[in-house]
Amino acid sequence: MAEADAAGRREALVELYERASACTLCPLSESRSKVVFGAGNADAELMFVGEAPGAEEDRQGLPFVGRAGILLNELLAEVGLKREDAFVANVLKCKPPGNRDPQPLEIETCRPYLERQIELIEPKLICTLGNFSTKLLTGSPTGITRVRGSAQQHVLGGRKVTLLPLFHPAAGLRTAAVKETLREDFKLIPALIEQPPHERVDLEPEPEPGPDRERASAEPDQLGFFG
Ligand code: URA
Repeated sequence: MAEADAAGRREALVELYERASACTLCPLSESRSKVVFGAGNADAELMFVGEAPGAEEDRQGLPFVGRAGILLNELLAEVGLKREDAFVANVLKCKPPGNRDPQPLEIETCRPYLERQIELIEPKLICTLGNFSTKLLTGSPTGITRVRGSAQQHVLGGRKVTLLPLFHPAAGLRTAAVKETLREDFKLIPALIEQPPHERVDLEPEPEPGPDRERASAEPDQLGFFG
């Protein structure tokens, strides 16, 4: 990618991060400590989408930094990849109280942030982790147990993208058989990111998500997430 494109992508992501950081569009903004926008390589071919921040993520403002994140790092290492090879985000950018499931209204309110992240990062492969991101991005109510480990093609963020549904790492921490399945499914990732880039599909532009930029207040120490 041309340097100017990469710089423009990073700038647009920082702007989106600033909007998300000031977001008060749903009640989760009242109970969060930090918005967990997502972090990683802005030029990555691989993107992971989890469910929602947990307590540790809410404290640090970073995705998958608790026990599920440690397993995610291990699974990546087993197939020769690192966290820096991916961009990691969630369906919800704010922690639901008591770690409850995301609610439909929260998912719909937060969705434009994720869609814009996908549009800007232009990953070749999106691995959805668990039911919530899988159902949201496949647009199908079919649960993770039935669709995991089979790559699908979708149009997301204005281009064709391969989507690989995977069990959520937190489920792998609870059940040894699920962890084994995750290990097997992760082996599919390297070949799927080797495929040629998908072409752009022309769609109507969406309005920018979140509050106006003027009202957003970024925390400067968090702007270096997008390596
Ligand atoms: N679980 C998620 O779905 N996302 C995180 O960031 C952490 C745990």
